[in-house]
Amino acid sequence: MKKIVILGGGFGGISAALELSRGLQDEAEVTLVERSPVFMMGLRYLWVVTGRGTRRDGERPITALRAGGVNICAGTVQAIDAKGRTVRTDAGVLPFDYLIVALGAEPRPDLVSGFSEAAYNLYSADDADRLGRRIRDFRSGRIAISILGVPYKCPPAPYEAAMMLDDLFRRVNTRQNIAIQTFTPQAMSLPVVGAANCAQVEGLLAAKGIGFTPNRKVARVDGSTLVFEDGVRVEADLLIGVPPHRPPAVVRESGLAMRGEWLEVEPQTLRTSIDGVFAVGDVNEIPLANKLPLPKAGLFAESQGKVAARAIIAEVQRASASDVFDGHGYCFIETGAGLATMVQGNFFASPAPALTVGPPSPQVLQQKMDFEQSRLSLWFR
Ligand SMILES: Cc1cc2nc3c(=O)[nH]c(=O)nc-3n(C[C@H](O)[C@H](O)[C@H](O)COP(=O)(O)OP(=O)(O)OC[C@H]3O[C@@H](n4cnc5c(N)ncnc54)[C@H](O)[C@@H]3O)c2cc1C
Repeated sequence: MKKIVILGGGFGGISAALELSRGLQDEAEVTLVERSPVFMMGLRYLWVVTGRGTRRDGERPITALRAGGVNICAGTVQAIDAKGRTVRTDAGVLPFDYLIVALGAEPRPDLVSGFSEAAYNLYSADDADRLGRRIRDFRSGRIAISILGVPYKCPPAPYEAAMMLDDLFRRVNTRQNIAIQTFTPQAMSLPVVGAANCAQVEGLLAAKGIGFTPNRKVARVDGSTLVFEDGVRVEADLLIGVPPHRPPAVVRESGLAMRGEWLEVEPQTLRTSIDGVFAVGDVNEIPLANKLPLPKAGLFAESQGKVAARAIIAEVQRASASDVFDGHGYCFIETGAGLATMVQGNFFASPAPALTVGPPSPQVLQQKMDFEQSRLSLWFR
């Protein structure tokens, strides 16, 4: 019996674990280590904030994955010894023949002085609840939505939040009393999709009267004021931020090769610098032909998890692996008023990703809702 250990029970870890337990059945022991008792998708935070859904509706217990043949180690990974082929957790030491690192990217509000005291973290389930309550009482004033570092996961999400808030305030007839501004340190809203597609996204914001200011790097938060690196200060009555992201600390000390802050992988196979060790999803960084990284998105983490799992299945069964991660995918952009669009195409195309952004439609919003439900029902039986 081969021992296969998967670290992290998010999109990447869950899809890999289920693929492995299905593919190897009696040939391997598949163990998934996850510190959180529940799984919930990030896209639901936006529904919680805008009153479109609850956390409870999107949460599933991690232990339910046992029905799919996966051993669950409910614990925190404390150290990864990639060369020594062991992982230490607070629930014991796990030796492995194969390892998949799927520990994600952590939003780190602590990296921005003054943030936690005054701002809501758009990427935290707890803050989503608090922010939802604040929004319901918000009748007038200035809302600033600011991206505080790159890369961050789901690049459209802050703009989705702005458009969904716009829609909410229009429905309760307070929009005329509320200013919504968005700020990014980048030169355009979603640089990876290219200037023409960005113009389309920024046009959607402008049409809704939402401010968009590029090239704004936040140095610190001072009370409810954003202080930018060039000294410009923007006061707001409600600050919503996307904090800088980092991989969990254990990743940096694992002995695996890094690409800047993130794990280095071979883009099509997700193999790391050490044989039999893979890294999938937000924890890795895959450079694209236009020098920007592949966006951190659940859909990519899920496909990468499957590719890594199939490579391991092929090795155990001494077959040849034919699956590769080909960079095709999509990201939803919810635009409010019951509509959504998506960025889709080939992110691995050269000299730049070949992507389109379609017109917003109710059908794409339905696809986004189905995206969540289909995975919840497939993974958590
Ligand atoms: C607001 C928002 C909206 C989004 N919308 C979309 C969308 O529409 N479509 C889309 O594709 N993606 C979306 N995303 C992005 C998506 O959620 C992430 O890209 C995806 O979760 C990445 O999957 P992953 O498996 O790499 O990491 P994660 O899903 O983050 O999983 C990592 C897991 O590792 C666990 N972990 C971390 N450290 C430890 C440790 N030391 N010990 C034990 N366990 C640990 C964590 O608890 C976590 O469960 C959105 C994200 C947000 C925040």
